[in-house]
Amino acid sequence: MTRRIGTVSILSTGEEVLRGELVDSNSATLSRLLEEAGFSVQLMLTTGDRREDLVWAIETALQKSDSLFISGGLGPTEDDLTSEVVAGVAGVAQVFDTSTWQDIEEKFRQFGIELTDNNRKQALFPQDSQILANANGTAPGFETLVTRAGDQKRIIALPGPPRELLPMITQYLTTVSDAIKPDHEFIHFFGIGESTLAAALKPWEEQHGELGFRALFPEVEVKLYDTDPDKLYSLRKFVVDNLSTSLVDFEPLGIPSLFPQFLQERGLTFATAESCTGGWVGKLITDKAGSSNYYRGGIISYSNASKVNLLGVDPATLEQHGAVSEEVAIEMAYGARERLGADIALSLTGVAGPDGGSDDKPVGTVWVGRATADETTARKLKLIPGRERIRICSAYEGMRWVMADWLADRWATRLTPD
Ligand code: ATP
Ligand code: MG
Repeated sequence: MTRRIGTVSILSTGEEVLRGELVDSNSATLSRLLEEAGFSVQLMLTTGDRREDLVWAIETALQKSDSLFISGGLGPTEDDLTSEVVAGVAGVAQVFDTSTWQDIEEKFRQFGIELTDNNRKQALFPQDSQILANANGTAPGFETLVTRAGDQKRIIALPGPPRELLPMITQYLTTVSDAIKPDHEFIHFFGIGESTLAAALKPWEEQHGELGFRALFPEVEVKLYDTDPDKLYSLRKFVVDNLSTSLVDFEPLGIPSLFPQFLQERGLTFATAESCTGGWVGKLITDKAGSSNYYRGGIISYSNASKVNLLGVDPATLEQHGAVSEEVAIEMAYGARERLGADIALSLTGVAGPDGGSDDKPVGTVWVGRATADETTARKLKLIPGRERIRICSAYEGMRWVMADWLADRWATRLTPD
């Protein structure tokens, strides 16, 4: 059985959310992360900024679940009521936290912004709350305990802006004891559609029970909620035996997160030469802080001239084989590795469309090249049309190809208990 570490409700607040002026991504983020952490989400509510509605929603949620996660309403303005209303529901006063106030003063000084009296409100918390630091904004969150019908309930209040909320909920979940983390298994696949994957896994499901599927474009995630060890290892073995060409990993990480791990574990530096992807691989890599430790840089060689001048591709190769060819992909990867001084380089050159396709090179034809100290090779991809889709899928496929051996080594360690 899946172990659950408690039931939760989610409340998003704010008139803009209620009126559909902004999409409530916070509830979705919270629900997904809480479920992944093993909580069972019971209820999702949205209110505007009316006190009585907030009180009703909070009380309702507390009847339904052990914890309530609230997003929004922590700011300095009139309509930011979360702290005040939670204090009321908990039956405690709001108290002014001097250390939070000093942090707020300091942040405003750094940003060179004038503090107003309103800002003092952001340092007011329901008495006895635990304050949750907000590294990306001025308003901290808080956790308040409330007793209802003899049971202790938790209210966790987080700020509305997603870039503040996401790191805070992530941090909060690291404080949830490992001992009660659930045993869900998440397997990531790439380069296979959800329905094809479901059909391929059907024989296993018929024997062992149902799996959950979730499209996380361009990857697909398969979940096994029941992680009886025998089932788990039989699933992993089935996947490696039957689906190794589309398996990414037995972790909910995804290619862009695994790639830096691969480079760091192997102690390798990396460079890119990108044409049709326009720097997408470079973007995915530099999304991670600390990427300068292993990423030497990339050349976006979108024109033939740049392929020649910046990467040293031979004009004769371009003339003879065209920019989207095995030969050019190889020379691009070779040039990037040499010129950027990296251990491995990846090149991408393809027809992203919608125009520019031909009979022998239809839209979706992409060559990816890989240069190492030992060899430089290239592979042809045939991707389903859609400009954006071709560009994203080639970036992911190129990264997966570069770390293919490392991924296979990882799977091998996961096929039997440690
Ligand atoms: P602030 O200090 O910025 O006012 P807050 O905690 O008071 O933060 P809100 O005032 O409710 O939060 O919302 C601030 C901004 O956060 C909104 O304008 C919106 O951009 C974003 N936001 C709020 N709620 C959500 C939500 N449910 N989903 C996505 N974004 C949201
Ligand atoms: Mg606000």
